[in-house]
Amino acid sequence: MMKIFCPDECLGSLFDVDLDELWRKGFRGIILDIDNTLLPWAGETLDEDTIRWVTRAREMGFRVCLTSNALRERVHRIAAALSVPAVAGAVKPRKKPFREAMRLLQTNPWETVVIGDQMFTDILGGNRMALYTILIDPVTTEELKATKLMRKLERRIIRRLSRKGYISESAARRRLAKSRG
Ligand SMILES: [Mg+2]
Repeated sequence: MMKIFCPDECLGSLFDVDLDELWRKGFRGIILDIDNTLLPWAGETLDEDTIRWVTRAREMGFRVCLTSNALRERVHRIAAALSVPAVAGAVKPRKKPFREAMRLLQTNPWETVVIGDQMFTDILGGNRMALYTILIDPVTTEELKATKLMRKLERRIIRRLSRKGYISESAARRRLAKSRG
């Protein structure tokens, strides 16, 4: 039951994602979360490194799509800045936004990666669709009150997954230290 929350990889940030390795493994589409993955929660401005990361992924041949539970207008503004499509008002972890993203990416589940900072939206949703899931540490600890409550639960599950050996001890320790709001 726990395994539905377990990411395939647990990394510090977007910049720790090994794009070459993902490409070699046959992945061609990337579904990216926005808040606390690409930029601080409710942020507007993408930093240079993030833009460069997305550009590099696209130059390699990856197709990239943003999915976010955030408001449509903001999501599309950020997507336009990166020249990628987006699914807004996504209500992750429901399956629909992931299906919609794959339709835009024109990829199959086995060649699609999800990258996000939340276990109960990005990772659970991706796992429900049998996608390859990468959990990264949130960019900031600032977020919605509801999300903060979820983080508590998230930390408990991360500890459990780490004890069972599904998440490395070092990744769990780093994550637990960083996600404490
Ligand atoms: Mg997020």
